[in-house]
Amino acid sequence: MSTKEYSNGEVTIVWKPEKCIHSGICVKTLPQVYHPKEKPWINPEKASSKELIMQVATCPSGALSIKQENKTMIKIEREDNGRKGRFVIYENDELAGEMTYVWAGEARFIIDHTGVEENFSGRGLGKQLVMKAVEYARNNNLKILPLCPFAKKVFDKDKGLEDVRA
Ligand code: SF4
Repeated sequence: MSTKEYSNGEVTIVWKPEKCIHSGICVKTLPQVYHPKEKPWINPEKASSKELIMQVATCPSGALSIKQENKTMIKIEREDNGRKGRFVIYENDELAGEMTYVWAGEARFIIDHTGVEENFSGRGLGKQLVMKAVEYARNNNLKILPLCPFAKKVFDKDKGLEDVRA
């Protein structure tokens, strides 16, 4: 699968054309960065690294991803005991935050808390946790009730998430 990379010196946006479903969400969110009719179509220097990371997390197809120049590795794992669970985010294998949920029936779960460790705050990790839950819900035909104020704010702001909102 071919990939293209666009860097602002701090972070690199990786784009996989075959995965892109042309939702236009990237263009709508950061119009100063994404210009589909121009070459190069992504200009990452037109936004801060934080804005780019937040935006890339909203790409519904996974066509966009972030490669940090400092080789930061982000990993999100899900744990579940059948009644409740959590998504845990690690940066370079260090626990950076978690988002907890409880099941409300078989096809619905409630996000009740999102928390990022203080030394990892301000990097969009909370949003990445919410988007991981969204991806999980979409892949498994589930709905999410975002009771946690942070997750609710993410859902309220992004109308593209209505399909998974309970
Ligand atoms: S948000 Fe993702 S899927 Fe949508 S147009 Fe941009 S790259 Fe493609």
